[in-house]
Amino acid sequence: MSEYVRMVLCTTNAGKSREVRALLPKDWDVLDLDAIGQFKQVEESADSLEGNALLKARQVFKLSGEWSLADDTGLEVDALDGAPGVRSARFAGSHASDRANVQLLLEKMTGVADRKARFRTVLALVGPGGSHCFEGVVEGSISRGSSGTGGFGYDPVFVPEGFDRTFADLPNEVKLTMSHRSKALLLLIAFVNSGGLRVS
Ligand code: IMP
Repeated sequence: MSEYVRMVLCTTNAGKSREVRALLPKDWDVLDLDAIGQFKQVEESADSLEGNALLKARQVFKLSGEWSLADDTGLEVDALDGAPGVRSARFAGSHASDRANVQLLLEKMTGVADRKARFRTVLALVGPGGSHCFEGVVEGSISRGSSGTGGFGYDPVFVPEGFDRTFADLPNEVKLTMSHRSKALLLLIAFVNSGGLRVS
């Protein structure tokens, strides 16, 4: 018989929440932040994806006492020395819209031949048994213009390796089979299913 698994998903980003929920086993009890009452947005002040994911998950665990799962994601562009990376959400300024971030990225990439890039996600799971991190990466390139209406964030300008369309142009099920987030989630699911949440 499978174990009862319950955790809080620490995100206010609807796109992330949709993708994470689509992949987590349906018999897991996955709570939204509203379920634990008021939640203050955590300032992502660490200088790494892992640091920021841990900050978010630790805060929610402190408030809720429940296993807490947070995701921090960055887009790393080779020609920009890995930027925007950990600053992906604030690339065009604090509280920048996805559109403004994408616009700035395309401007910086105008005329640049080397368009290699990758998405990296770190998931942090924090709870009574400690902290655990899982990483997933997908390689690809930055397109020359924005295209597609699916996904969120930088999806309209990211073409995954082996495809000729952006994540936003591909059906969402395709993104889910190979994305940075999906790879990290598969590691997390394997960890939980092997008894990782048991507190001795
Ligand atoms: P954060 O992990 O919420 O800090 O997100 C960092 C930035 O990357 C934000 O601008 C998000 O919109 C963007 N982002 C996160 N995940 C994805 C994704 O799967 N595709 C495209 N953009 C993403």
